[in-house]
Amino acid sequence: MQENPICHLHICYLLFAICSFVIFFFYHFFICPSPARRYNCDMTMHHPAVITAVEQRSVAARAGLRPGDRLLALNDSPLRDVIDVQVYASEPELTFLVERDGKRLERTAQRRYGQPLGLEFASELFDEPLHVCRNACDFCFVSQMPPGMRASLYVKDDDYRLSFLHGNYITLTNLDTAAWERIAAQHLSPLYVSVHATEPEVRAGLLHNPRAAGIMEQLHRLADMGIEVHTQAVLVPGCNDGAHLERTISELAALYPGARSLCVVPVGLTRLCQAGLRPYTGDESLAVLEQILTWQRRLRAELGVGFVYPTDEWYLQAGWPVPPLAAYDGQLPFLVENGVGLVRRFMDDWPVTHSTLAELGGIRQLWVTGTLFAPLLQEYAAAFTRETGIVAEVLPVANRTLGETITVAGLLTAGDVLAALPESAPGPEGVLVLPGVMFRGPGGRTLDGLTSEDMARVIGQPGHVVV
Ligand code: SF4
Repeated sequence: MQENPICHLHICYLLFAICSFVIFFFYHFFICPSPARRYNCDMTMHHPAVITAVEQRSVAARAGLRPGDRLLALNDSPLRDVIDVQVYASEPELTFLVERDGKRLERTAQRRYGQPLGLEFASELFDEPLHVCRNACDFCFVSQMPPGMRASLYVKDDDYRLSFLHGNYITLTNLDTAAWERIAAQHLSPLYVSVHATEPEVRAGLLHNPRAAGIMEQLHRLADMGIEVHTQAVLVPGCNDGAHLERTISELAALYPGARSLCVVPVGLTRLCQAGLRPYTGDESLAVLEQILTWQRRLRAELGVGFVYPTDEWYLQAGWPVPPLAAYDGQLPFLVENGVGLVRRFMDDWPVTHSTLAELGGIRQLWVTGTLFAPLLQEYAAAFTRETGIVAEVLPVANRTLGETITVAGLLTAGDVLAALPESAPGPEGVLVLPGVMFRGPGGRTLDGLTSEDMARVIGQPGHVVV
């Protein structure tokens, strides 16, 4: 039978088309340096250096910059984010290249040491969107969020830039060569690192990511670069506590002062946790607390600082008194976001808080808090009533939104507080006192997006917030 040459041609075309498609697909999804693909990010979360506010009489105001301008370069250097702005604005002579109404303009100004630059931007990130995490931790709080909360609570931020700017914890599992080079070149220190465990297989198992195994090499690399880290270990019963925690504390303390601190945090589990995890019991909390405090005593003798710090939850769960301020070695500003030292601060600030509450007056005050802090707050309320004659009552609010295993005041929603208020409370001559830690979202909002003024409107009476 005679061969058909057209069939050969068709097969060649077909093979060419398949190869082209494979190359195109491979390039775009595995090689193309698009930030969105490299970082698996939401492209909506960055803005190209649009100025939203210029402080009066600041350096930027003297240079003639205006809200709406787009800052393209500073001293001839292109800008990736506000970190670049901070770095390049440290010179005494500044040249701003801005885009205004489609035209490019150059503006100059001088800056004396310590003078504010005076610029605010639509976003802190200009050229690349937020770097999100590539892990899948069983205890991930973001994954356990019920619907209806603030949008930012659903973002799995794992971005070294925000770690440097705001102290957000990162895992180092998504750093590429450019990121490592930048951290070194701009000396982005300190960074905040979620370690959880230093044993490679334990950490990789907790994060469900094989790239998580090399944490000690990464921390040594940062230390060699002169970058300090504050670290964190979220403890999960039976997973990374006991002997694993011993090794984690020991290996991180050996990095001091490259590693400045380790916060030990009990796992937070909402009612939506699907991973079959459980919280610590009171007795287990006591055992963990004793283990940490034993290490703290030893390390204070060796290093001059306690180095490892339990969050307040361990003390409250175990029924132990919180330590004095000196036990935190002056490191509270770096630790407090983890829930370390809040109770101590409350106790030490009590004389000021007492005066504020007394000035609020009323014949009756209703103090709202989470179930964890309520027993201690009752003692303060009783003393306040005796001293002022104002009847202070504590309202412990169960967290129905996230689940009753979440007991801290900082994670209370406005919805749960409003639902828990007695019908008559606080009454026309009473005062409602809400915990300031509820309102730590942007614009002073709760997890479910209300301000204290919003809550006061719903109740129909003015509310007062005390930190
Ligand atoms: S690294 Fe953080 S955000 Fe990512 S999965 Fe783990 S807990 Fe969640």
